[in-house]
Amino acid sequence: MDNHIAIAIDGPSGAGKSTLARMAAKRFGFIYVDTGALYRTVGLYTLRSGVGTRDAQGVAALLPEIHIEMRYDGEGVQRMLLNGEDVTDLIRTPEVSMAASDVSALPPVRAFLLDTQREMAKKYDVIMDGRDIGTVVLPEAQVKIFLTASARERARRRFRELRERGVETDFETVLQDIELRDRNDSSREIAPLRPAPDAVMCDTTEHDLDGSFELIREIIEAKK
Ligand code: C5P
Repeated sequence: MDNHIAIAIDGPSGAGKSTLARMAAKRFGFIYVDTGALYRTVGLYTLRSGVGTRDAQGVAALLPEIHIEMRYDGEGVQRMLLNGEDVTDLIRTPEVSMAASDVSALPPVRAFLLDTQREMAKKYDVIMDGRDIGTVVLPEAQVKIFLTASARERARRRFRELRERGVETDFETVLQDIELRDRNDSSREIAPLRPAPDAVMCDTTEHDLDGSFELIREIIEAKK
């Protein structure tokens, strides 16, 4: 990480990582790196190509065709470019979420995306969120936070967010998706979702956004 500071935020989907990381990035003047967007982009490419998202060999064979770029617009919003096409909005559907969860369990996919993530931390002060940032991607991060909330509360938040974006879905489907992805992400052999030994645990079930932000702000200020 050279002379840069890195803050790693890991945890299951819907725990509030991206919203809180974005707020913290603004507050502390860091670049926010959403690593889930990388896996989503590979998931989208796999869906489009017609290869099964659990087909390890098939997906590995696609990787040389994939060029991913992360750009930041004037507002500091991360845009994802897939072979030059802006797919930032296309990767936010429930279908792509599941595809991302599937392809992220494949070792060649994780290896393929590792450098991109580490490069960001070499160039900038980053607050990076994902599943294995504190354990695998940036084990030297100065601050590590493991953010959780109950599955039901996470589903409630994700449901609200999808509805606001006009994505048609129902609560039970969102809850099942979250539970399935939790199982996928925690049980896979490579880089399973688990807190780094030196991560600070942070449960946001009982906290609204401002309350949750206070929790992580205090953690960051104490450790930075
Ligand atoms: O965070 P987000 O929900 O966008 O991530 C999509 C999927 O990508 C997750 O379900 C997870 O399986 C995978 N992922 C991962 N490692 C990361 C970030 C995301 O395996 N660092």
